[in-house]
Amino acid sequence: MNADRQRARRLLEQLRDLRTAAASLSDALVLLDADGRVRWCNAAAQRLLGIGWPRDRGLALAERFREHEIGAWLHEGGAEPEDVAAPADAAMRLQVELIPYGERRRLLLARDISRVTRLEQVRRDFVANVSHELRTPLTVIHGYLELLDPEDVPALAPVLGEMRVQSQRMRQIVEDLLELSRLEMQQRLPEERVAMAPLLASLKREAEALSQGRHRIVLEDHAHADLLGSPKDLHSAFSNLVSNAVRYTPEGGTIAIRWRRVGAGAEYSVTDTGYGIPAEHLSRLTERFYRVSSSRSRATGGTGLGLSIVKHVLNLHDARLHIASEAGKGSTFACVFEAARVLDAAAGGPSDH
Ligand code: ADP
Repeated sequence: MNADRQRARRLLEQLRDLRTAAASLSDALVLLDADGRVRWCNAAAQRLLGIGWPRDRGLALAERFREHEIGAWLHEGGAEPEDVAAPADAAMRLQVELIPYGERRRLLLARDISRVTRLEQVRRDFVANVSHELRTPLTVIHGYLELLDPEDVPALAPVLGEMRVQSQRMRQIVEDLLELSRLEMQQRLPEERVAMAPLLASLKREAEALSQGRHRIVLEDHAHADLLGSPKDLHSAFSNLVSNAVRYTPEGGTIAIRWRRVGAGAEYSVTDTGYGIPAEHLSRLTERFYRVSSSRSRATGGTGLGLSIVKHVLNLHDARLHIASEAGKGSTFACVFEAARVLDAAAGGPSDH
């Protein structure tokens, strides 16, 4: 009997210990029952979410946050963590996460990420400002270099040529960084119909101009579908993939641009028979300035920013980038769009070229 009582006391102590630890966490913890009602919350939940214990015991959380973005997130099942404004203080950013446990119970975790968000903003502003400041001096230098005629000073002709190439490269890097900054700051897109047939035809012409007859360029348009989004940004993303395929495929190779329906959505893809990419690089390709081979990227006029731009544009269109590649064989870069972004083509039929 005495042993039982001792064990009960020990368990109670452990329970208190756990509660005290959870209560003093700086992240907000809210335990929810199967109906989404509050079973318990810690002290930080008051500061971050405005929920108090024991005051809000049994409170239906989705109901409390009906007018707030947390409500919509809970309503959709909260499958993915989300960044939201704190309900009690709009200047504070929170990351909220819903973790299932036990019998249909869930734990809501809210973390103050204001500092990280602010730092991220400082980084973005810094890159945008530096790029912007570099733009004018580079344009001036580039302009003067264009004015100089190598024939006037033949001895300097190779130097002048190299300076022109390098100043053009710098200009392209600055333009790509500005484009990335613009995409990062963009919250919403123009929701326009993007007619795919003429866009695909113009991408094929771009590929031919870049290739200068060194590759076979194929266009297959089976989707008979248009997209909903930003024409300018989609063109930029699609064209980046075409340009990469041409630049990383040796002479004699084939580049296929395809547009087809996949399930309820659609897929734009560019397949090449080029150098390919070893598997260990695939997950990092969309990072800024990440290159498999710096020398090959530079030699072909790359900035190392193309695929970051593609990823950002696709994110803004709720689309995903799939990369399949084999070193020495070639690559396929596919942009997969959800049904909500795909419209039946306005006119004209599917065609192959
Ligand atoms: P870059 O301007 O260097 O081409 P990207 O961001 O467009 O920058 O691409 C990043 C890297 O991914 C490239 O440097 C190259 O190593 C690799 N890559 C991209 N597309 C292809 C492709 N079609 N075939 C082989 N490698 C590719």
